[in-house]
Amino acid sequence: MRVIAIVNQKGGVGKTTTSINLAAALALEGQSVLLVDIDPQGNASTGLGVSRQNREKSIYHVLTEDLSLAEAIQPTSVEKLHIVPSHVDLSAAEMEIGSQDGRTTLMRKKVAELVRDGRRRYDYVLIDCPPSLNLLTVNALTAARSVIVPLQCEFFALEGLSQLLQTVEMAKANLNPSLVIDGVMLTMYDQRNRLSSQVAEDVRKHLGRAVFKTLIPRNVRIAEAPSFGQPVLTYDPTCAGSVAYQDLAIELLQRHKKTKE
Ligand code: ADP
Ligand code: MG
Repeated sequence: MRVIAIVNQKGGVGKTTTSINLAAALALEGQSVLLVDIDPQGNASTGLGVSRQNREKSIYHVLTEDLSLAEAIQPTSVEKLHIVPSHVDLSAAEMEIGSQDGRTTLMRKKVAELVRDGRRRYDYVLIDCPPSLNLLTVNALTAARSVIVPLQCEFFALEGLSQLLQTVEMAKANLNPSLVIDGVMLTMYDQRNRLSSQVAEDVRKHLGRAVFKTLIPRNVRIAEAPSFGQPVLTYDPTCAGSVAYQDLAIELLQRHKKTKE
C-alpha cells in the first residue's frame, strides 16, 4: 500500500481536484484506492458525493477519538474508490491534538492499524491536504511514502515552493526518512495563453525530471464535476480533463513500477 500526500500550502492550486481525479483514475486503472480528506473545508468529500449530514464518522473523529480509519470509510460512485470524509470540526483538531505526545504521528498510526487490520486492502491511499503547512499537513507527510505537488500554471507558480520543499525535508529528517517526492504536477494549463506555456517551460527548466510529463489543462468539465458529486472521469469520460488525469495515473504507475525494479 502506497500513501501519497497531495500538498501545496497555497489554496486554489488544484490539490482537491487532483486528489479526486487522480484517485478515480487510479481506481479505473484497476487499483483499489482510498482518499482521505484532511482539509476542514471538506471539498473532496463534497466532490465525491458525501453530504455534510453524512460525516459523523470522519477523519476528525479518527484523529481525536478512538475511531479507526476502517470504521470511517465510505463508498463513492466509483467502484474501487473509497473515502474517509473530512468534518468542519477538523479545524479545531490542531488545538485538540497539539499538546499530545505523538501529535505528528497520529495519522501514521491509524494507517498502520488499517494495514494490520487487513480487512480493507488498498493499493493507494491519497491524502488531500489543507492549504497550509500545519500539524495536519505534517501528519500527512509523516504517514506518506511520497508527495505530489500540484502547481498552477500562473505567474507565482514557484512562489512558496522552497518553503514547501523545506517542510518536506524537515519531515524526512525528523519523522519519516523514506519520504520522497513523486513529482510536481502542472495544472490549469491554458494552451492559448502564452503566460501558461512560459510558466510550464520555466518550471521544467527549474525542476527537470521532477515534473510530470502530463499537463492537466484548464477544462470547464473538471470544474463542473464536483457539483454532481462525481470525478470528471465518470461525469464526462472523454473530455480533455478526463484524458489528462488518466494519463497522469498511468505516468504515476509507471514511475512506481520503475522504482520497484
Ligand atoms: P485546492 O484544493 O488546491 O484549493 P482546488 O482543487 O479546489 O484547489 O481548485 C481550485 C478551483 O479551481 C476549483 O474551483 C476547481 O474547480 C478549479 N480547478 C482546478 N483544476 C482545474 C482545471 N484543471 N480546470 C478548470 N478548473 C479547475
Ligand atoms: Mg482543497
